[in-house]
This record gives sequence, C-alpha cells and structure tokens, in this order.
Amino acid sequence: MTSAGAVGSTGLPIPEPGAGEVRLKVLAAGICHSDLHVVDRDGMGWPLPFTFGHEICGRVEAAGEGVGKDLIGTQVVVHAPVGCARCPRCVAGRTNYCDRRASLPAVGLGLGIDGGMADAVVVDRSRLVPADGLDPVTAAALTDAGLTSYHAVASCTPALCEPDAVVVVIGVGGLGHMAVGILRAMTRAQVVAVDTRAEALELARACGAHAAARPDTAAAVVAEVSAGRGADVVLDFVAAQATLDAAVPLLRAAGELVVVGGGGGTLPVRKPGTLPSGLVVRMPFWGSRDELVATVELARAGVLTAHTTTFALSEAGQAFARLRRGQVIGRAVLVPD
Ligand code: NAD
Ligand code: ZN
Repeated sequence: MTSAGAVGSTGLPIPEPGAGEVRLKVLAAGICHSDLHVVDRDGMGWPLPFTFGHEICGRVEAAGEGVGKDLIGTQVVVHAPVGCARCPRCVAGRTNYCDRRASLPAVGLGLGIDGGMADAVVVDRSRLVPADGLDPVTAAALTDAGLTSYHAVASCTPALCEPDAVVVVIGVGGLGHMAVGILRAMTRAQVVAVDTRAEALELARACGAHAAARPDTAAAVVAEVSAGRGADVVLDFVAAQATLDAAVPLLRAAGELVVVGGGGGTLPVRKPGTLPSGLVVRMPFWGSRDELVATVELARAGVLTAHTTTFALSEAGQAFARLRRGQVIGRAVLVPD
C-alpha cells in the first residue's frame, strides 16, 4: 500500500492499493465498545498512530496489481481479523484464532493497523464479502457486532438443542441485540435479555427476546422461564465483575458461560467451589470469513436486522462520547461526510 498523493476529508492521505489489494471508498464504519477499551488501555501496546474502524462497508474504487477490474464499483463488507496467513488456523480460514496471534502487530484492521474510519481504506481482496443491495450502514454492523455474535451463538447451539432450552443475553448493545436476533434465527431456545437500560430492553424485545429484565430481576425471570432449572447458556456481552458474578448463578448444571465482553471481570475456578458442576466456559473471538458470509446471508434473508444510530464521520468524537455514556441504541455507525 502506498499513498496516491490525495488527502481525504479527515486530513489522512488516500492510500493506493498494492498487489492483491483494493481501495474501498468507505460507505459506513461501525463504532465498537472495543474501540473505547483500546482508548482506555493506551492503544493496547500496538504501534501508534493508526485509524480506528474494524466494521467496514465500502465500494471498491481502485484495484491493485493482479486484482480483476470487474470488482470496481461493487459494494462489499470487510472480514477484518488479522492473522499470519500461514499457520494451520489461518490456512483453514480461522484467522480469528491464528496460532501466531501474540506475535502479530495488530488484531484486525482498525485494531493496530489502519481501519475504516476514513474516506478510504486499502484491504486485501481476500477480505471482501459481497454486500451489494444491502443498506451500507446496517451491513457494516454485520462485520463485528453481527459476526462475533454469530460465532458466539454458533459455539453454543449444541447446548441449546434440548426442548425448552433457555439462553440469557447480558448486555443488549451493539453486539447483544444482534445476538438476540441470531438466537431467534438459529435456535428454538427461550431468549431472556438483561440490561441496565430500559431502551436496551425495549430493543431486545423488538429483536425477538421472549423476556427482558433488569439485572436485579434477572434471576427471578430466568427461574420462571426455565421452570426453576436455570439457563442452559449465558452469553455475557459485558463481562465486567458485576455481570460475571450475576451470570454464574443463572446457569443450570452443565450449562455454558460464553464470555464475549471485554469488561475485565474475573471468574475464579476452584473445586470444590461455587461454579455449577459440568460448567463450560467459552471465550469466543470475532469469527471466520465463512461465518461472515453466513451472517450476511441471514441479513439478506431478512431474518437478521442491525439497529443502528448514524453519525457523520466528522462527528466521530461525539459518537464515541455517546457510546461511552451508554446513550447509543444498537450500533453507532459513522458515515463519511
Ligand atoms: P455496547 O456499549 O454497545 O453495549 C453494551 C451493553 O451492555 C449496553 O446496552 C449496556 O447498557 C449494557 N450493560 C452495561 N453494563 C451492564 C450491566 N452491569 N448489566 C447489564 N447490562 C449492562 O458494547 P458492544 O459494542 O456491544 O461491545 C460489548 C462488549 O463486547 C465490549 O466489551 C467489547 O469490547 C466486546 N467485544 C468482544 C468481541 C469478541 O470478539 N469477543 C468483539 C467485539 C466486542
Ligand atoms: Zn495464523
């Protein structure tokens, strides 16, 4: 990748695609709570500066050497996890679980290297997933809020196959509201959503949750929905100490706790102790390109809808502040001015 000499509205140079790469005109870029974690954790030790934006929908506007010109003009979303491209996991398409993750300079586009909160971004063509015909704003949200939720739900669907299975979603923000929709699309489980905000609980119901509760009533609601057994699966999209502490007692024996949020809470493992016997803990990370294709298909089929709040790219600071204050419903998405 080189610079074309032109400068975009953000003051950043418009990059030129190298061999195997394309330049996208960014149509929409989602803001993830992970971006706030990166700010709060001083860039996670990645080389600074880099441009945020790991949820990207764009239109191909230039193709580098070896890339067919037929791609130009097509609308795509970007599979953004970074892997080494050579280890068995990467070769199998599971770049989100690259064996060399610890030695890589970035986790994803916009997470250690330049991402999509700009007028244009250069990406390898292997990252592109066709998204023609989809609304760019909601399509952008599919690439992490949707994909991570899809991958997290897919990891626990075997635990939700018993009749009357119950699943709890804690934190109905950008990711959690999509998880509710994906659970309804992919399982027959009863879905209980938990959030501190009334408007998030309303969104959960709109996305298909069978019940929605504030944290102080969650245990009673789960007991009622599960006829006293407890939940088969709890997906924690916050994973702060308060939510992990609350999640464990909601589970029945041999239940599964899926830790998606990066809230920094801890879960001491001790035997004998207070964790349910047979407990399974999963820590899913993002998802594969194939899973992004499947997530886009759910959206195309009309069974998965991202709820978004749009901001101009020039209002990114205000959008980040609103996300931090818990004032975003669904996903905040930036659109270049
Ligand atoms: P968000 O800010 O959009 O949503 C968080 C939601 O949790 C909000 O609705 C908020 O009201 C709710 N909440 C906060 N405290 C709560 C509590 N104590 N009890 C119940 N609800 C509570 O965030 P997001 O963008 O959806 O991201 C969620 C988390 O997932 C972040 O920590 C982010 O870093 C992480 N994440 C993980 C992955 C992964 O691959 N594992 C990928 C993306 C994001
Ligand atoms: Zn790898």
